[in-house]
Amino acid sequence: MAATVEKLLLAAPRGYCAGVDRAVQTVERALELYGAPVYVRKEIVHNKHVVEQLRERGAIFVDELNDTVPEGATTVFSAHGVSPAVHEDAQRRGLQTIDATCPLVTKVHREAVKFASEGYTIVLIGHAGHEEVEGTMGEAPEHIVLVETEADVDALEVDDPEKIAYISQTTLSVDETLTIINRLRAKFPAITGPRTDDICYATTNRQAAVKQMASHCDLLLVIGSKNSSNSNRLVQVTRELGTDAHLIDDVSEIDEAWLEGRRVVGISSGASAPEELVQRLVDFFRARGTEQVEEFQVVQEDVRFMLPKAIRQAMVAAGQTPAPAGA
Ligand code: SF4
Repeated sequence: MAATVEKLLLAAPRGYCAGVDRAVQTVERALELYGAPVYVRKEIVHNKHVVEQLRERGAIFVDELNDTVPEGATTVFSAHGVSPAVHEDAQRRGLQTIDATCPLVTKVHREAVKFASEGYTIVLIGHAGHEEVEGTMGEAPEHIVLVETEADVDALEVDDPEKIAYISQTTLSVDETLTIINRLRAKFPAITGPRTDDICYATTNRQAAVKQMASHCDLLLVIGSKNSSNSNRLVQVTRELGTDAHLIDDVSEIDEAWLEGRRVVGISSGASAPEELVQRLVDFFRARGTEQVEEFQVVQEDVRFMLPKAIRQAMVAAGQTPAPAGA
């Protein structure tokens, strides 16, 4: 067995953001108010434990609104957002839709629509194939080009370099995105962008916390699922600072070899990872003799979002008082 880890540092903030809390609560309330099954297009948030728990309560997750979603069924759209084509498809099928898209993703959709209506070529900085990127691109497919790297910027050709704008996915590496934006600015001096950053507060704060913590620990463990963009970025930015880091869905994925010779282990969790998984990880180390467990607070968060209107109305009709969602 590896030697005892002396100390755990728990990054703060970590875990659930307001957008994830809102999306998960939306499915929970929909199950209570309308009864099972409730259909959910895509994973409501990118965490396998959350998805499994909701599935056990009667949520049915589907990849697309194909024929497995019966006409008129209650259907929730995930936190990552959907394109207008998906909304139209749902309307054609007569589905009762509840949109759990995070308001901060909706903000990026609005920017895309605005820039497109003004005739801009829009450079979307993001990861190909991510659901959020697919939803955003669907707002103005004729106007948006995707770039993932600086090399993509170098290769980019646009019709009118005076009429170009950028937007970004909400869950990217803050530093990497800034580098890409600077490359865009150097190549297209007239480029314009959103009034405020598209990378959301939760992504920014979780990265700030692990970056400050990295020099204080020998290893960082990040709780999050493999398809969670913001969780992967926590591992990435920590490794870039020279500290070893691994992404695990839960404590069962720990490799003993990682702990060999480690004195201080840092723990964080992605915006879609429930806190109980962090606490199980802490229990794992305590059971092996770790006595010091300290919070490493970098930023205090107090962001709340209202639940989707359809849920709020249904709660009021059922005599309940809707409260804003937020971790
Ligand atoms: Fe919204 Fe950011 Fe959370 Fe995504 S990570 S759900 S954009 S607050």
